[in-house]
This record gives sequence, C-alpha cells and structure tokens, in this order.
Amino acid sequence: MKETLIHYPHFIGEKQYEGTEKIIVQDKYLNSALATISNGTETEVNLAVQAAREAFNTTKLTPAKRAELLYTAAELFKERKEELAETITMEAGKVITDARAEVDRGIQTFIAAAEEGKRITGHTVPVDGQSGNENRIAFTIRKPVGVIAAITPFNFPFNLTAHKVAPALASGNTLVIKPSEKTPVSAMKMAEILLEAGFPPGYINVVNGYGHETGSHLLKHSGVNMYTFTGSPDIGKLIKNNTGIRKVTLELGSNAPNIVHHDAENIKSIAESCVEKGMMNNGQACISVQRVYVHDSVADIFLEEAKAAAEAMIVGNPLEADTQVGPMIDKRSTERIESWVNEAVMEGAEIVAGGRRKGSIYFPTILTAVKSSMKVVCEEVFAPVIVVESYNNFEEAIKEANQSRFGLQAGVFTSNIHLAMDAAAQLEFGGVIINDVSTFRADVMPYGGIKDSGIGKEGPKYAIEEMTDEKLIVLKTH
Ligand code: NAD
Repeated sequence: MKETLIHYPHFIGEKQYEGTEKIIVQDKYLNSALATISNGTETEVNLAVQAAREAFNTTKLTPAKRAELLYTAAELFKERKEELAETITMEAGKVITDARAEVDRGIQTFIAAAEEGKRITGHTVPVDGQSGNENRIAFTIRKPVGVIAAITPFNFPFNLTAHKVAPALASGNTLVIKPSEKTPVSAMKMAEILLEAGFPPGYINVVNGYGHETGSHLLKHSGVNMYTFTGSPDIGKLIKNNTGIRKVTLELGSNAPNIVHHDAENIKSIAESCVEKGMMNNGQACISVQRVYVHDSVADIFLEEAKAAAEAMIVGNPLEADTQVGPMIDKRSTERIESWVNEAVMEGAEIVAGGRRKGSIYFPTILTAVKSSMKVVCEEVFAPVIVVESYNNFEEAIKEANQSRFGLQAGVFTSNIHLAMDAAAQLEFGGVIINDVSTFRADVMPYGGIKDSGIGKEGPKYAIEEMTDEKLIVLKTH
C-alpha cells in the first residue's frame, strides 16, 4: 500500500474518528488502492448513534435555517464539482460525463429538499363531520422521526446518498450514514461539506465499514428511529426482518421491462435509447433497461439499430471524456454476468452484440432468443446487458413485462394514447414511463417500487413524508 494513500476514518460528531481495522477502497479502472477507510465496530456505531441522538435532542434548527444550510451546501458542492465527479469516477468506475451529471443531480436534490423543507404541512381533520364532535377542531402536524440510519449502495454514491441525507436534514432529523464500503469517499466528502456549510456537529455522522459487520451493528441499535436503505433485495429483506417495528424504507433492484410497439415514433432512436440506458453506468442502475419487448413487425430493424449502437460504444478508461462504458464495480460482478450470459447461450440465447469480458469491463451486450427462466431475464442483471424479445400482441407484451418478482419502473413506446393508458393501468410497477425508457428519473418525482423492488418513496417531498411522523392535535373549543 502506498504511503500517500488517503485514509477516511469515521465522521462522528465534529471529528474524524479512527478505527482499528482498515479496508482498502479500489480505483475500479486501475484496480489499485485509491484510499482506505476504517471498518466500524459496535463501539463506533454506538458513538455515532449517540452523537446523532444528542444533536437531535439538544440542537434544534428552524425549517428556514435548515433550508439556508442546505442551499449553502449546494453552493459548496458546485465549487467542488470536478473533485466530486472525479471521486465518483475513481471509486465507482462511472464514466466522467455521467459522474458530472450525478453531481449536478445531487445538487438539485439538495436544493429540492431545501425547498420542500420549508413547506412541510399536516392537514385539517373534519372531526365535526361526525355528530357529537361539533365543538372540536382537529389538525395534524409533521414531526421529524429522530435519528435516521441511511445505508447506501455503490452505484450512485453521491446522488443516492443525497436522496437520503438532504430530506432527512430538511425535515429536522439527524443522521448516521453507512455508505457502501466499495464507494465511501463521496459520502465522506458530502459529510465534510455539510459541516462546513454550518450543520451542527452530530447532525451528520458517517460510520464506514462492511455491511455484514458495521451494517449489522447499526441494525441492532435501538437508538435508531428509522432505516432508509437503497441496495439489493436480499439485504433489503434482511433489514426489514431485523429492525422490528421501526420505520423502514427500501429502494431495491429490478429487471426493468420496456415495450416497443409498432406504432411508436422513430424506432431507430428508441433502439439507441434502450442501448444507451441499458449500458449507462455499466448497466448498474436499478432502472436500467433490461428486458425489451418489441413488436414482431419492427423487431428486425430494432435489433439492427440496437446492434449498431452497442458496437459503436466507446469502452475503456472512465476518466477519458469520450468513454461511455467503463469497468463494473468489481471483477466478481463481471465474472457473474459473464457466467449468466454463457449459461443463457448454452440454453439457446443468441448474442447480437458483445458477450465478452476484459478484466472488470463487460462489453455492451444484446441477447435475443431468450427464455423467461434464464437469469438474464428473470434476475436483475445489473450489468451492460439487455435482452430483446419480439411479441405479437400488446396484451401479451404487458403480461410478459409483469412476469417478474420486481416492480420498480417500466417503459412503453406507442403513439396510441389508448394503448398507453391501458399499459399505465395494467403494468404492475411503481412508475410507468410512456414514450421514454424505464430509466427516466427526475429527482423531484415520487420514486420507489412495489413487490421485491421495495417499500416507500424517495424524491425529497416524498422522502420527507417518510421521515416525519404525523401527529394529531384536537382542540376542544368550548
Ligand atoms: P448491497 O445490498 O450489496 O449493499 C447496499 C448497502 O448495504 C451497502 O452499504 C452494504 O455495505 C450494506 N449492507 C450489506 N450487508 C448488510 C447487512 N447485513 N446489514 C446492513 N447493511 C448491509 O447493494 P449494492 O451492491 O451496493 O447495490 C446494488 C443494488 O442496489 C442493486 O440491487 C440495485 O438495484 C439496488 N439499487 C436500488 C435503487 C433504487 O432506488 N431502487 C437505486 C440504486 C441501487
């Protein structure tokens, strides 16, 4: 290990807190050590929760003040945008143009949370509509839940952390963040900037470490009021099963379907979009295009255009401006997708493009002639791989799309408004995107899945609802 390697310990209260054991964070393209973090034990988890509790109990900030601090943080993020983007690229392998876009989106998430935090409302309850309650006025207000544990994944280390941190702070909560051990540096920089912006010590704490160790301690801690988790369905279930009756929101995976009907406008650009958004972030997004159902009559042209688009993608060093596909998060993930594709091919799938690996880079891959039982179809691929299947009638395509244990977002392309609305009604997903791919996300929209894709919504306005308790007040007037 190089002497100069930056070490990121834990962030507890107002100071960096050393641990005993160190974990190496890799540069995902160079495959060399980028930094080290501490591996949090029960002691550091206890200290972090204690600091968050103390700040919550003793240092109240008005909604206007919280918004002001969040706006200040947004300005500081802007000043350090390039540094933050390069951090994302190195620790996550994300191509630099997408990393810059992620920082921009994260800044918008902070600004949206600042705005939403200024208009948290309850509602009037018309109790006098029931006879006998005429002399009462009732209304609700929303109160912060208290200490929130935010457990985050590797694939959007800045913006997905922002989606938890910004609404939690905007609504008056304090936080213990447990970032992915694969991409912890973005979260450490975010915490440092939030403190610099003026949040009081204890509002934002970061405990680094492995999920099964540090994360497990955090799940057991009775001082945490709510868990907000983004990650894999297996860990999501584990979190739900281990946190008793406390609040939990789970943003989990999917195998997003996209239906392309024969009457959709511009099949070429739809094919290009499906490829671009299937391969973006190396396919490691929970709403990446994965399953594409294309009407028989346009399937050949779709495949031809999709193949051309996939083969034209520039693959390589994520820090270079033109690169579109870089390394996956680790060699193990690349080997996993390689074995899934090979297995599908053994069972009859055909490779239209890609289908090969170089180190931890997997080349943009399109498969066809797949079966619904193949892992590349029924599991979450989380890799630059899409499968394209043709269909004969629209109802059949909707049925296929619904044949999944997941339900995050789906895309539908058609110029027929009646079919579009049928699809919107029948698709069993948290969101249906019409005339764009399943990958569309605006950070202000309600975002979250059904079935194994999770419970609860993100998007600052909706996350604030999750992160506050509704309290009823009844006033007897005479
Ligand atoms: P992961 O589940 O492996 O890890 C996520 C976090 O959980 C990490 O911080 C990890 O350390 C922690 N963790 C692991 N084991 C734990 C345990 N036993 N106790 C407590 N914490 C534990 O997920 P990942 O590989 O980092 O991310 C990829 C997954 O995230 C994919 O399934 C993807 O679809 C999903 N995801 C979902 C959304 C969404 O908004 N729905 C967004 C991004 C990613």
